[in-house]
Amino acid sequence: RSVSFQGSTNNYPRNNDKFIDGLLPPGLDQKSCLSRYQLNLYRKPSPHKPSLPLLSKLRHYEALHRRCGPTSPSFRRSLLSLTSPTNSTSSPDDCKYIVILTRDGLGNRILAILSAFFYALITNRVILIDRGNTLDDLLCEPFLESSWLLPLDFSLRSKFGSFHQSFPGSFGNVLRNGMLKKTIEDSPPPYLYLHLSHDAGDYDKLFYCDRQQNLLKKVPWLIMETNNYLVPGIFLVSSFREELNKLFPSKDTVFHHLGRYLFHPTNDVWGLILRSYKPYVARADEMIGIQIRIFGSESGSIQDQMNQLLACTQKKKLLPEVELSSLEKTNFTTSQKVKVVLVTSLSSQYSETLKEMYLEHPTVDSEVVAVYQPSHEGFQSSDNRMHNRKALAEMYLLSLSDVLVTSDWSTFGYVAQGLAGVKPWMLYKAEDKVFWALQHWLKYKTRNETTDDWPCREAVSMEPCLHAPPVCDCDEMKRMDGGNVLPYVMHCEDASWGLKLGR
Ligand code: GDP
Repeated sequence: RSVSFQGSTNNYPRNNDKFIDGLLPPGLDQKSCLSRYQLNLYRKPSPHKPSLPLLSKLRHYEALHRRCGPTSPSFRRSLLSLTSPTNSTSSPDDCKYIVILTRDGLGNRILAILSAFFYALITNRVILIDRGNTLDDLLCEPFLESSWLLPLDFSLRSKFGSFHQSFPGSFGNVLRNGMLKKTIEDSPPPYLYLHLSHDAGDYDKLFYCDRQQNLLKKVPWLIMETNNYLVPGIFLVSSFREELNKLFPSKDTVFHHLGRYLFHPTNDVWGLILRSYKPYVARADEMIGIQIRIFGSESGSIQDQMNQLLACTQKKKLLPEVELSSLEKTNFTTSQKVKVVLVTSLSSQYSETLKEMYLEHPTVDSEVVAVYQPSHEGFQSSDNRMHNRKALAEMYLLSLSDVLVTSDWSTFGYVAQGLAGVKPWMLYKAEDKVFWALQHWLKYKTRNETTDDWPCREAVSMEPCLHAPPVCDCDEMKRMDGGNVLPYVMHCEDASWGLKLGR
């Protein structure tokens, strides 16, 4: 049965499964987080179903989080291991934690949180998030009767400022300086800092190795900083493989399932989503989401990017062509299809150009195209609450699209595609054009050969890319290619050195 939606004029099939195929447990408060049980009513049913082992693992995790989370007596006892090192391994309640420090824009932060949760799930740790300035304003608590926010009076918080790549006590630096495996095994430290951001070094990335994972098991508190999607790297750890195969028989659905499970916009963000959805999107027979990210380092002009976008959407037949002759069509019918184009960008120029184009000319196939852009913030200001709310609302609006066009390298786009469960068409970065042309020439030895993949190509999967993958083997620190280890861990289309999960 499709759920009718007030104001909707089309037959867009909607979903009446508010528990998202069993991902969400019943019983969480509805009023304080309306999106949790309502969002799925606005989405088409996902073709990707979570496995039974994953559902049971999530229920198990929720019980662990209740037992060890910040409101529990076990949590208070576990804090003692931080202040009295002699007690370091002796959490009588067997509670272990992963504290996640996120950084950079919202897309980066969301990838970091999901990575830490994925790690917590397979290592039986409890995730706690250092909330930063605005996180609690954006996302609801996902776990019943507990919190995933690190308490503000957490004793190590004052040290977080010194945790970065060169922090002498980081796991990577400890390994580099030859701390013996035995030392960690015999007297594990109460906590370890894991530096896994974009600038992580080769020793930091030994995190992706079995031997080091064995050591980390002994440490009750792990503090991890990242702005990356670590999941493809964690798939390389062979001791996790058996369980991961059971949890995720389709490897390319990790972000899709865990993202829909974990992230629920707060009521303020949900209001923003609905105020765009109801007047502009609900009438769509088909929705195309276009995300244009302008990076500070971008070399091409806005006009170049606009030309690239138009070339992509026309070549791949994502948007209808316009009739350039002045002859107006006379066969108006009442059954014209409405295609809504949702544009998100810091600049308004792309949507204005598209809007003008479809206003000034009819489409060749008589489709009606409505272009809408919720905001144009001008520049990134990640400490501003309203700015972040708009960013999250737009990721979610994009995730309701049937077709997505995204910008290479952008974690903002990765989040939208993962939540949507859609493989996006990815726009090459402007500066990659010369590189692409060279590679193409080398491959085909002729410039006349036609090919399909400029100026955009379809991603191999909806999974995000790990931009800072391990590049050394675990035993001898020799160069290795993580894209050659498993058939479903491959290089990313938008970052040839990166890793992503495919089928
Ligand atoms: P990335 O830098 O593209 O990987 O994505 P991030 O989300 O990590 O950082 C970019 C930040 O810039 C976003 O979180 C927003 O704060 C802002 N931003 C970039 N593009 C958009 C956009 O299309 N809409 C809105 N509202 N904000 C954007």
